[in-house]
Amino acid sequence: MNLNLEKKLAEEFSFMRHYDSSSNPIIEHTPYPAACNDGWFGLIHEICAFLEKEAKEVEVLQIKEKFGYLCFYFSAESKRDDIDLFDEIGKIANRSSKTCEFCGDTTTAKIRGGGWIQCKCNKCQHTQLMEKVTGRLEGCARRKRNYGTVVPSMS
Ligand SMILES: [Zn+2]
Repeated sequence: MNLNLEKKLAEEFSFMRHYDSSSNPIIEHTPYPAACNDGWFGLIHEICAFLEKEAKEVEVLQIKEKFGYLCFYFSAESKRDDIDLFDEIGKIANRSSKTCEFCGDTTTAKIRGGGWIQCKCNKCQHTQLMEKVTGRLEGCARRKRNYGTVVPSMS
């Protein structure tokens, strides 16, 4: 995730701060840089806000994308007996399978296969496919320039 978004989380939630050896908080980035794209910032923020309200002794272990889902690993104690933190946070994190990891869209986003399984909306899927195709065409053009193209003469 973009460093500015990670800083935003670290400024708002103490458990998202990175500490150095002298115990001075360095509001730089999340404990582990969130290994996912910016479209899930809203979901991660919602999880943090929930933990801030309902949990104590929160330790965030890892945040990442896996098979199109947001994985938020943490350890914490619930403040209330009737709230299961893992259930509640699981519910928020599960919405990542219908939230575009790139732009946050929730209207057309779904998990898409191919090489890397990711949750994408129609627009981001299209943009990334076009970038791939354009990249390939540029590769072909470069190869042609490097090796030259022999055109048979029609005499
Ligand atoms: Zn998108």
